[in-house]
Amino acid sequence: MSGTQLSTESIVQTLSSHGHRITTPRRAVIDAVLGHERPFTAEQIVAEVPAAGRATVYRTLELLASLDFCNRILQPGGHPAYVTGEPGHRHHLVCSGCGTTVSFTACPVDQIVDDLRAETHFRIDGHHLEVFGACPDCASTPN
Ligand SMILES: [Zn+2]
Ligand SMILES: [Zn+2]
Repeated sequence: MSGTQLSTESIVQTLSSHGHRITTPRRAVIDAVLGHERPFTAEQIVAEVPAAGRATVYRTLELLASLDFCNRILQPGGHPAYVTGEPGHRHHLVCSGCGTTVSFTACPVDQIVDDLRAETHFRIDGHHLEVFGACPDCASTPN
């Protein structure tokens, strides 16, 4: 969908420039995250990088999410997961069958958020929107 590829080095550089210490476990977590093209859970990363420890995995994922290197999504069924992404506001279309994920930047929620802000005077901090269904391959396979 875009030619930009995230690399461990580019993420490490960004983290460093934000004043975060790059430890070996943290780097291993970033490597593991970048190995996923489809949604993954924090527990999957914990299993893949046992040496990092659960707390480091969760903290690193939060950090990556806060810098938009990955996005929190809800999988069909409501289970939280992450997808890697590029910085910027995006949403995801997820296949319930195989996990294939397509990100998109068009945000229909922005208008609703503007209206809500005007009506309620809330400071709006963010929103989630996931779209799920079956990709063409899964849709053509009878289950
Ligand atoms: Zn699929
Ligand atoms: Zn949005």
